Order: sequence, then C-alpha cells, then structure tokens
Amino acid sequence: MTMTHKLINQMIQLQELIVADMQKKAAMPKVRLEELENSISALAADLPQQIKTHFNRLVQKHPEAIVPVSSETCAGCGMGLTRSLVNAVHKAEQLHRCPNCARFLYYPEQLIARERTSRVYGEVRKTGIGRFTSPELMMASLKGTTPEEVLCEMCNHMAEENFVEDGGHLLDLAMQREAIVSTAVDNGLAFPHVRGVEGGGLTLMVGIHKKGVKFGGPGRTLTRIFFFMMIPTATSAFYLKLISGLSRIYREKEASNALLEAKTETDLWKALIKTTRKMIK
Ligand SMILES: [Zn+2]
Repeated sequence: MTMTHKLINQMIQLQELIVADMQKKAAMPKVRLEELENSISALAADLPQQIKTHFNRLVQKHPEAIVPVSSETCAGCGMGLTRSLVNAVHKAEQLHRCPNCARFLYYPEQLIARERTSRVYGEVRKTGIGRFTSPELMMASLKGTTPEEVLCEMCNHMAEENFVEDGGHLLDLAMQREAIVSTAVDNGLAFPHVRGVEGGGLTLMVGIHKKGVKFGGPGRTLTRIFFFMMIPTATSAFYLKLISGLSRIYREKEASNALLEAKTETDLWKALIKTTRKMIK
C-alpha cells in the first residue's frame, strides 16, 4: 500500500465517522455522541496539517470531502473528468482533487450498481415521499431476529424487485455501515443505508418489524420501523434532511402506530403517504 492509499483510506474512514455523527444528530439533535466525536478527533489529528485544513474546509460545505470517481465523473458534483485525471486517481501516486468542487477523489473498488431507479421514465412526476420510494419497496412484516437477518431480508427484497443487481454486496456494505455505529435511533426507528451508489436518485425502502428487534438503539429499546436508503454521493446532503424529517414525523405515536398497524404492503404504502404528506412536499 502506498502512502497515498493510506491517506485515502484514512480520509474515507474519517468521512464515514463524520457522516455517521451527522446522521445521529439529524435524528437525535439533543444527544451527544462522545465516543464517536473522540474517534473523529483522533483520526483527524493523524492527517498531515495541509490535508486536514483542506478536509475540514470541505466538510463545512458538503457532508462529503472525499468522493469516488464514478463513470469518469466526480461523484460529488457530477463534473466529467479527463481520462488522464481518472488514470492518475486510479494509480494513486499522489492525492488528486476535483477541478470543479475541490473534493478529494479516489478510485472505488466496487460501487453498488443499480438495475433501475424508483422513478420510471415517462411517468407522471411524483410528489412527496413517492419521489424516493414506491409500493414495491414496502415490507409490512420483517421476520429476522438479528440486525443481519433483518438487513438481509431487505437487501434480498431490493434485489428481487430489481433495484440492485447484487443483494449480497448491498448487505455487506449495509453491515459495514452498522459496524461504525448503529443506525438505530430512539422511538424505535433505524436508518440503515448504503452510500456511494452509482447513478439514479435516492431510493428508500420501508420495513416494519412488528415484534421489534435489538438493533443497537439507545438503552434496550427495540427497533420496529426501518428506513433503508440507497444513497448516491450527489444526494448526501439531502438525505440528512430526509432523516431528520422522518425522525420528527415518527416521533409521534400516532404516526408510527399507523405504520406499525399496517397489515399488508398496500396498507403500509397508504399509511406512509398519509403520515408524510404534510412534512415532505
Ligand atoms: Zn467535483
């Protein structure tokens, strides 16, 4: 591994922690996550001064300071990159930044490839939560008894419905994200996700676990409502808003009960549309 590879890995790791911290704060604004904050400071302290300064400056502007090259474009801003820059990023003899948005660039080993997006070409423009999800992405009765089993059910469903090619790869990435810090928050909600998805918009899947499962939420709380998201890098800032919006809606018992009481996928879809109507335009 070259020095540059090491730096890139360090920045990606730091990035993951910073974003995990932002996600938790979006869902639970009052909670302080000391352990996570300490890890962030420790990892940042290890970066060379110049890189750290630039990294911090980028983080103030966007949630992501280091982004993958995806089909010869910067996954952060969508700008096309020259072949020679793409090659140089691949070789990783030194650090490179996007000439347009100045984010650090890296060459990903594997991105999640999509089969289709939730928006079908030629369809009437959708509104509200329907922009990100669809009736096929509802699961009214998850059965798994561990975080991995629950995520496996959701990832398999995503593959069965042809939203991704490889449900197993999606599961690996979702589990890696859970390993940083659980995406479970209070009020029985969790926001598992995979970032850096190639192409398309943000895709949201909703899964209900009637009995509840231990997913790493605060205290001994059980998680019952899962919002699983596939997030392209370009929509990273937006999904933090979506997390905080959904957390606010389903903090209310009446709204979360509406989802929990859904017997079928159709009921769940209707309850989701109804409860998000006011907040998500
Ligand atoms: Zn860029």
